[in-house]
This record gives sequence, structure tokens and C-alpha cells, in this order.
Amino acid sequence: MVPESFVEEVQAVLGAQGIVQEPAERERFLVDFWKQNRGESDLILRPALSEEVAAVVRAAGRHDVPLVPQSGNTGLVCGGIPDRSGRQVVVSLERMTRIREVDPAGDYLTVEAGCVLEDIQNEAEAIDRLFPLSLGAQGSCRIGGNISTNAGGVNVLRYGMTRQLVMGLEVVLPDGRIWDGLRALKKDNTGYDLKQLFIGAEGTLGIVTAAVLRLFPRPRETQTLWLAIERPAVAVELLNLFQTHFGELITSFELLTGFGVEAACTHLPGVRAPIESRSDWHLLIEIEWSLASGLAAQVERVVEEIFERGLALDGTIAQSGEQRNMMWRIREGQSEATRHMGYIIRSDVSVRVSDLPRLIERAERHFAGRAPGVTLIPFGHVGDGNLHFNFIAPEDPAEVARLKPLVLGDLADLIFSMGGSFSAEHGIGRSKRNELLARKSDVEVDLMRRLKAVLDPDGILNPGAVLEAE
Ligand SMILES: Cc1cc2nc3c(=O)[nH]c(=O)nc-3n(C[C@H](O)[C@H](O)[C@H](O)COP(=O)(O)OP(=O)(O)OC[C@H]3O[C@@H](n4cnc5c(N)ncnc54)[C@H](O)[C@@H]3O)c2cc1C
Repeated sequence: MVPESFVEEVQAVLGAQGIVQEPAERERFLVDFWKQNRGESDLILRPALSEEVAAVVRAAGRHDVPLVPQSGNTGLVCGGIPDRSGRQVVVSLERMTRIREVDPAGDYLTVEAGCVLEDIQNEAEAIDRLFPLSLGAQGSCRIGGNISTNAGGVNVLRYGMTRQLVMGLEVVLPDGRIWDGLRALKKDNTGYDLKQLFIGAEGTLGIVTAAVLRLFPRPRETQTLWLAIERPAVAVELLNLFQTHFGELITSFELLTGFGVEAACTHLPGVRAPIESRSDWHLLIEIEWSLASGLAAQVERVVEEIFERGLALDGTIAQSGEQRNMMWRIREGQSEATRHMGYIIRSDVSVRVSDLPRLIERAERHFAGRAPGVTLIPFGHVGDGNLHFNFIAPEDPAEVARLKPLVLGDLADLIFSMGGSFSAEHGIGRSKRNELLARKSDVEVDLMRRLKAVLDPDGILNPGAVLEAE
């Protein structure tokens, strides 16, 4: 399906190492992380240099071959895998893993798009700095993908989304030119902030090949707490209380269900509950600062106040790195722990923080009537007003086909009625494109289509993701 003349041209540029055609070797580029979706493509390209990416894009333009940029392939909305047409070619950035520059004085790192997020975190730590982007997929996702999805994760409350962590970008444009925007300037008010266009564009406006990333002082004292609470409204009350006492020192404020915690303890090897008593709701809270000591005493005082006021039913503060890791394993393993209980329908919604309890209450009531037999597990980032509702549905394909659009459609209706977002941090990809076209205002969709047409008039980059293919 991919023109032979295109294959020959890119072969000459990339060499044997840069091309994957063997069916077995192609598989991992075509199937998504949870193995629920699959695309088709006879050809995977693996350039190692920005100039090679640019040459591939120029050849694609000449031969009218649509390209799908891919980094770590952990995206949850099918933006990084091709569609089923067989026409689209995956461009994987996984060989572009160089750290180009490290500058502790300027607080930045310049990295190539294929660097794995965890490797970047380690690189920052090696110079006594923090790169705060942190998510469950950090051992596999790559920075090009994080930037292109404007990834969120567990530290957004303090450090913001990826958008706030990028100082500069290098991007291959749909016409094959390379835009060198790799500036490491803390101040640069020179016209439109072009890098922001490409952050969160999911590969539809350009291919990110390198980035300058902001670094932060490394925390020296971390306090991680686990609290059992009676109901979600208490989570919002406690967030308020912690903000009063600790302000910007709070990095994470995560809500979990008792069901999800028990699933993690039952199904994830070696995982134990941080507290013995059972509860319907739990909070995982992390507070950090750059001083070497003194935080523990302050946290203990606030925890005492919480128990005196009866706001928590039980709780503990991690006393070791091992205990802290165990708490985070439970939080990050929520999807993994439940995946064998049925087909997981995933979602990622946000509302105003104060509306979170009402959202949970309304969703639980609504789906008990509309989708009996489906288990609803909300969890996520209270501080960002962002919850993931995982719905466990029966594995039966006919039931999945019936329930998935029903559940996601109803959830989106509910979210819109509350002025929220149907994709808080995962993006749009191919999975949520029709939702976007149906739900965003005509003005917004028109602006997005016009931007796409200006930058990529021939629809070479990731057609069908975010917006409809031409
Ligand atoms: C277990 C798990 C936990 C997760 N937790 C979170 C979370 O807490 N927060 C969160 O936000 N997300 C989360 N995700 C989703 C996912 O990890 C993020 O969206 C991540 O940023 C994707 O990075 P990636 O390298 O895997 O990108 P990919 O999946 O390869 O690509 C994602 C999108 O970006 C485009 N793209 C990739 N590379 C480039 C490039 N170099 N230039 C232009 N476009 C490109 C692709 O075309 C695609 O549209 C999670 C996923 C899993 C599996």
C-alpha cells in the first residue's frame, strides 16, 4: 500500500537500521499499550537524526504518504498508532536519544525527542536538579510524546503540565524544514510563542525532534501520607486545609477507591496496603521542600489536627523509601490491577476542583441505572480536578461494543453539563476526535482546522488524529 518509490527513497536516507518491514518486528509499533487497539502499516521508519526526519517528511510530501509520529507508544487515545487503512507510515523517534546539553546554572537540559522520561529524570538528578514530569508510564514514554500530548501526571499541582516545563523546541515542519527554536531563555517576549503550538498538537502540526526542558531545585525532604477518608467531599476539604498549611509545597494529592486499593493489594505482586483498616476512599498526598529537614514535624502537627477534627478515619506517614514506593505502586498500578477483571473502558475527565465530589456522586448514581454490571473506579488528581474513571465491563466483544460508546458518551454529557473537559491530560488522538468535533464550539473547531491547513496543507502529518483527515 505504501508506494515502492517512497520506500526506496527513505531506504537511501535511513539505511537498513532505520527501516522495519518484518511483520513480527512491526507489531509493537502498531498495537497500543493496553493491547486494545491496532493499526496497520507495512513500514516503520526509525530516523536517528533531525536531518533524517526532515528528509523523510520531504519524501512523504512528494509521494503523498501520511506519517504518524511515535515516541514511546504509551498514549491512551490512539494518536501514535496508524489507522487501519495501511497507507500511514509510522515514524518512530526511539533512536533519537542523545542528551545534547546539560546546564545546571541555567537550570535546563537539551534532549532529543526519543529520550525516555525516566532517563531524563535521572539525568537531572545527576546534576542535583529535578525534572518534575512524572507519570505511571515514565519507564516507557519518551519526551517527544510527552510534549506532543502535553502530558500531566502526578506533580501538576506544583509544577504544571508539560507545557510549563518546555523552554524551547526543535521541530520538523510538514514541509520538511527544521525550525530551530531550541532557546534556553527564561525571558523571550518576541512575538507569538510558537513552541506552544506544537506542545499538545499530537503530531499533527510538526514532528518534535528535540527540546530544552526546565529544571527545578531538587527536594531534600519528602513527606508522603496515606489517609483513609469517608467520602470524596472530605478530599476537597483536606486539599484546602493542606494548601493553607503547605501552599506550593504540595506536589501530589491523589484520590483512590477502596476497591482499587484492594485490587492492587490482591493482584500486584508484593503489594501490601499501607494501613490495615478498610475504607471506601483513600488519599495519597506528597509534600516536599528543598530544605534538609523540618518538614516532618510540621506534617505531623497537621495530621494530628486532621484526626482531632475527625477528617480522616485512619492514616500513616511513610517512614522509608520502601513504604513510599509501595504507596505509589498502589496508585500507579490502578489500571494494571484491574485489567484482568474485565474489559477496561478508560476515561480522563476534569471539572472544577470543588465539583469533584458532585461529579463522583452523579456518575455513580447515573451508571448504576444505565450500565448495571459495570464497575466504576474513579481515581486521580484531586488537586487538578482531574479523575480517571475506569469502567470494568464484561469481556464479551458485543457487550464492549455496546457499552463503550454508551458509557463514554454519557460521561461526556455529564462532564459538559458541569462545564468540564472530556480529556484532561491524555489528549484527543483518534479515539476522541469525533467527540471533539461534536462538542467544541464551531469557532474553536474552525480555528483548529485553519491552523492545521496553514501548517500542513497536504495533510501529511498524523491525518485523522485530533481533527478529521482531509
Ligand atoms: C500506565 C500509564 C500511565 C499513564 N499516566 C499518565 C498520566 O498520569 N498523565 C498523562 O498525561 N498521561 C498518562 N499516560 C498516557 C501517556 O503515557 C502519555 O500520553 C505520554 O505523554 C505519551 O508519551 P509517548 O512517548 O508514549 O507518546 P506516543 O504514544 O508515542 O505518542 C502520543 C502522541 O504524540 C504524538 N507524538 C509522539 N512523538 C512525537 C514527536 N516526537 N513529535 C510529534 N508528535 C509526536 C503521537 O503521534 C501521538 O499522537 C499514561 C499511560 C500509561 C500506559
